[in-house]
Amino acid sequence: MADATAECNIKVLCRFRPLNQAEVVRGDKFLPKFQGDDTVIIGGKSYVFDRVFPTNTTQEQVYNTCAKQIVKDVLAGYNGTIFAYGQTSSGKTHTMEGKLHDTQEMGIIPRIAEDIFNHIFAMDENLEFHIKVWNNNITKTNLAVHEDKNRVPFVKGCTERFVSSPEEVMDVIDEGKANRHVAVTNMNEHSSRSHSIFLINIKQEHIETEQKLSGKLYLVDLAGSEKVSKTGAEGAVLDEAKNINKSLSSLGRLLKMTRILQDSLGGNCRTTMFICCSPSSFNDAETKSTLMFGQRAK
Ligand code: ADP
Ligand code: MG
Repeated sequence: MADATAECNIKVLCRFRPLNQAEVVRGDKFLPKFQGDDTVIIGGKSYVFDRVFPTNTTQEQVYNTCAKQIVKDVLAGYNGTIFAYGQTSSGKTHTMEGKLHDTQEMGIIPRIAEDIFNHIFAMDENLEFHIKVWNNNITKTNLAVHEDKNRVPFVKGCTERFVSSPEEVMDVIDEGKANRHVAVTNMNEHSSRSHSIFLINIKQEHIETEQKLSGKLYLVDLAGSEKVSKTGAEGAVLDEAKNINKSLSSLGRLLKMTRILQDSLGGNCRTTMFICCSPSSFNDAETKSTLMFGQRAK
């Protein structure tokens, strides 16, 4: 691959969830102090990002500030990637998926699905669209990345489907969730140890000029970034957790994992990384290491 990553537009955004009830009951302290719209201070140290979202930020505000533009770019032929990184329970899935069928609380993926179709209905009617979505969870057992005859990387055994409405996109997400339930009964434990990848591929062709344009958008909910001891895993589960966390322990390794995303991470791309954090004093160490990771990604 040519070293086109230098041209890549990468934004790193940081989002803090509110204290949850258990943390309030336990008497945990609320650590972050927010300054301006791009800085958070913890333990006297400032961490600066392209944008910091304090705990009261709504799903709509998050979407409008950082994901809406990516939809326009993908329809204009760019490739895009949105990652969520952070320890388990820091708000990654809330940010990426949220409550799927709730207009207020739905996250980035369902909003993108709606937005894509709204744009398409408003565009030139001589354009023909083919929209394909693809959903997969990457764990140790299916981590193998294969290449097709055009050397395009793919992961075996994932769901792939053409869609013609936002509802059909939601169906694919729902099915992905159901599959995860079948794979492991403890959903929370499983989601903390696997990466969930959702791909939207949009191809357009002008029916008269036959001019073609295509864009891809990868939406990635990464495995929990915490140190293994906190998940309380044992035996084989612990080995697997160690493996996944080993592969996430540095940005270099994270980018290796994203080999399947290589065409999105090449030139012509838009990459947004959400750094998700807990505000609780209980998670102080993990939060600092998550913030440091986010600073290195810039
Ligand atoms: P993760 O995917 O990182 O493990 P979740 O997204 O599942 O974490 O979030 C853990 C819990 O906290 C969920 O119950 C979620 O609804 C809640 N939560 C996360 N972020 C927020 C937020 N910004 N506002 C309100 N609740 C949140
Ligand atoms: Mg999650």
